[in-house]
Amino acid sequence: MKKEYAVIGLGRFGGSICKELSKEGLEVLAIDLDEDKVNEYKEIASHAVIADSTDETVLRELGIRNIDHVIVAIGDNIQASLLTTVILEELGIKKITVKAQNDYHEKILSKIGADHVIHPERDMGKRIAHNIMSNNILDYIELSDDHSVVEVKAGNKMSGRSLVDLDIRAQYGCNVVAIKRDKDVIVSPMATEMIQEGDILIVIGADKDISRFEKNLV
Ligand code: ATP
Ligand code: ATP
Ligand code: CA
Repeated sequence: MKKEYAVIGLGRFGGSICKELSKEGLEVLAIDLDEDKVNEYKEIASHAVIADSTDETVLRELGIRNIDHVIVAIGDNIQASLLTTVILEELGIKKITVKAQNDYHEKILSKIGADHVIHPERDMGKRIAHNIMSNNILDYIELSDDHSVVEVKAGNKMSGRSLVDLDIRAQYGCNVVAIKRDKDVIVSPMATEMIQEGDILIVIGADKDISRFEKNLV
């Protein structure tokens, strides 16, 4: 059976999730308190309804229990976001993803049963900051509070040298897990692999190590 999704809160974030899922041909139930927002999604989502997600009866009547994955994208009203999450958890929704507004919100959400808490403004800010530090840092993904993965373009400090030559693991404690070269991806490169100008390196490590690596080699 096809997986079904519900997006609660059709602000910029929830709205964009709703649009993207719908574009992929997936079943999406779009929910918002605001009539204008709901009207905007009438033609986009499979169903768009005006409802208050803090009202358990309303959620039940919408058949939310049959939904596989619910995304709670209520931003400013933290109380409504928390209450909605608790209700969804009690109704037995298998997968609940919630957008957090700040670190406290995030902490509480994890405790009350959100399966996945996202913090788009903070995470995007971090990614952009790394991109600003150097034009060669293409992307940055946080793995945990102190570990990340970065995607870097090899500049003249690295090109023409091998991994042993650069001694990346020993010097910086980071691992090059893959190298993207044109259309090829070299997964788990050999220590003797020569880096070429324009190669894209996928590097994993502790933030403090990645930071040294970025300062010295990128
Ligand atoms: P974004 O930060 O994603 O751009 P936004 O700032 O535009 O969002 P918010 O006020 O953060 O909007 O909330 C997102 C949406 O959630 C709004 O459209 C709002 O009407 C809706 N919303 C708020 N409370 C509820 C609720 N209890 N039930 C359903 N929808 C709600
Ligand atoms: P080590 O004892 O440091 O783990 P090793 O015994 O695995 O090294 P090699 O695999 O030959 O020896 O690699 C030699 C050095 O080359 C490593 O210490 C490391 O600094 C660097 N190196 C090799 N492969 C990678 C990689 N994928 N990412 C980062 N550095 C690498
Ligand atoms: Ca907002």
